[in-house]
Amino acid sequence: MKPSAGTENQRLSIVVPCYNEEDALGETVRRLRALCDALDLDAELIFVDDGSADRTRELLKGHAAADARIRVIGLSRNFGHQIAVTAGIDAAAGDAVVLLDADLQDPPEAVLEMVAKWREGFDVVYGTRTERVGESAFKLTTARAFYRLLNLVSDVPIPLDTGDFRLMDRKVVEALKAMPEKDRFVRGMVSWVGFRQTALPYRREERVAGTSKYPLRKMLRFGVDAILSFSTRPLQVSVALGMISAALALLGIFYAVFLRLFTSIWVEGWTALMIAVLFLGGVQLISVGILGEYVGRIYSEIKRRPLYIVQEYVGFDQDGPSMSRSPYVYSK
Ligand code: UDP
Ligand code: MG
Repeated sequence: MKPSAGTENQRLSIVVPCYNEEDALGETVRRLRALCDALDLDAELIFVDDGSADRTRELLKGHAAADARIRVIGLSRNFGHQIAVTAGIDAAAGDAVVLLDADLQDPPEAVLEMVAKWREGFDVVYGTRTERVGESAFKLTTARAFYRLLNLVSDVPIPLDTGDFRLMDRKVVEALKAMPEKDRFVRGMVSWVGFRQTALPYRREERVAGTSKYPLRKMLRFGVDAILSFSTRPLQVSVALGMISAALALLGIFYAVFLRLFTSIWVEGWTALMIAVLFLGGVQLISVGILGEYVGRIYSEIKRRPLYIVQEYVGFDQDGPSMSRSPYVYSK
């Protein structure tokens, strides 16, 4: 079932998560509309307002009123980037769906090349960053280290230096929609799905306006989520740490018994004792903490809450988007 049969009636959905992007939006919408004009297929632009506190929602609705290709999903509060992306994917009607950031760090023009590769028969075309302009050295090194660590521990290989900028065929989108988990690390989930995937190298540009919506705290959370949802290796590491420290403790015990029985210096050794106690205490706390992270995840999964709450759909057909996952939709 290749989409290459004919290009008429093919549809492309472009999903753009926005959180406090009032400064970037004007330029982003302009570039994306130009992209839609340049594409030889029907495109829809789905902007997801992730509970912005600024004028993002208002501006988006204005754009939607002016251009029938623009749709807006307004979430009831800030749910986070990955959930916002999910809400967009759920509502997308296209034969292929593109994920793209609102700050133009992912150049819209690269979508043309993604579509070309899709027509060659690839089901996922993910952008890999050859260069990242205007990011701090700290972000670059931590990101590099993170993607390598993630790959080391992950149960599925996840391409290096790859963000969410990508095109996915409908079959991949349907597979994603069948994955109900609450902790969503979208790029990892797409890797997990499989099918034919290929990379498209691109230069990651500087943010067009505004500031990063990923402060260190969110970045750390994102990293922890990624690792914990794609690997049970941390549990194995904590078991290994436990075994190593138990082995060391055993040596220490033999040593202590030996001193007690055969020498007269057995009151000494307070330092060694403290080291052992503190080390074991540390290892135990870490292990319990890791366990706790997984238990916490189980807890949030079993609550079975909807992933996100939609306050309003704007610019969709009368009955709203047709979806397999039904979010809770607030209606007056
Ligand atoms: N974003 C979002 N919800 C959030 C944080 C970010 O929808 O809670 C959006 C943001 O508007 C942008 C994209 O996710 O379109 C990536 O965020 P950002 O550019 O701030 O991250 P960075 O590029 O600095 O990693
Ligand atoms: Mg950005």
